[in-house]
Amino acid sequence: MIDLSKYTKELSKLFSSSENILIICHINPDGDSVGAQLALYHYFKTNNKNVSLIAPNNLQEFLKWMDGADQINIFIKDRKKCRKLIDNADLILMLDFNQPNRLGEAEDLIMESKAKKVIIDHHLDPVNFADLIISDPGKCSTSELVHELVCEINGKTFMSRSYAEALYVGIITDTGNFEHGAYSSKTFRIVADLLDTGIIKEKIINLIYNNFSSDRIRLQGFALNQRMVVLPELKTAYIYLSKVDLKEYNHVKGDTEGFVNMPLSIKGINFSALFIEKDNFIKLSFRSKGQFPSNEFASLYFSGGGHLNASGGEYVDTLDNTIAYFIKVLKENFWRFENQI
Ligand code: 5GP
Ligand code: MN
Repeated sequence: MIDLSKYTKELSKLFSSSENILIICHINPDGDSVGAQLALYHYFKTNNKNVSLIAPNNLQEFLKWMDGADQINIFIKDRKKCRKLIDNADLILMLDFNQPNRLGEAEDLIMESKAKKVIIDHHLDPVNFADLIISDPGKCSTSELVHELVCEINGKTFMSRSYAEALYVGIITDTGNFEHGAYSSKTFRIVADLLDTGIIKEKIINLIYNNFSSDRIRLQGFALNQRMVVLPELKTAYIYLSKVDLKEYNHVKGDTEGFVNMPLSIKGINFSALFIEKDNFIKLSFRSKGQFPSNEFASLYFSGGGHLNASGGEYVDTLDNTIAYFIKVLKENFWRFENQI
């Protein structure tokens, strides 16, 4: 845990001295990135600040219902307007990422902008590309961190229903509904305050988790039945899906979300990988149990990174070659990781 008071003074000064605040989430935004973004949006709106929102690319369906989501400008859809918002901003808050390439096509414009830049994030090993980096990997979500910062700056607990709903989405999506990640007793105290605003958790859970198409559920069945390989000697299992597989099940963005967690429920499996064939590369997701540093593995071999137990990366080769390379590097390194895996 970091001492937030070190940062809140500076952040508070930036908030009050800025006329136009821009908040940006990461590419392929998840519930935490958008949750934290919208929570801050509601906080600033309550305080009559001029605030605008950008996402590098489209929001997935399961997040579009959130209050304020319709105010998020999609960079790849409306470059002209987003360029103007970036030009006019005097403060840019970047949420839930710590590498500039997570800005997608907005990266160059944001980096060149004269605005003060702040990163608020909970991933390990931030790259220094902002004026202020508030990074706490001890938090389960950027949403939790945002709430603590807002309350410090506000002088007392800040709360509103839309704000609470946004934070709740961030916290449940980054912890798999309190299953994994760095959630703590403090998280539950915050969640208690969120629920006290009257947000309806059953409604939110339904909108987030029980919102799949039948194609998506069938793809999940196919992935587990036909495309999962278990390597008990390496305490590892992986799932691979080719472009043809995805087309067969009318895949839309987000359909494979969560697949990578499933092999971890097999007894004795502590490391799981998901390979998704893209146009020119393979996208990888990793999950691990215990101390196995999936982020180190992702960064060493797949140009990626992330959290200890949830990470990802990519590899430019065919699906077959990528899987063969994965098994090779895992075998070569298994002795190194064995105590942890
Ligand atoms: P997911 O498997 O849900 O796509 O990603 C899990 C986590 O891994 C993300 O929160 C992010 O921290 C990290 N991650 C995924 N893909 C990449 C990547 O290509 N590069 C880096 N640096 N991190 C990634
Ligand atoms: Mn997060």
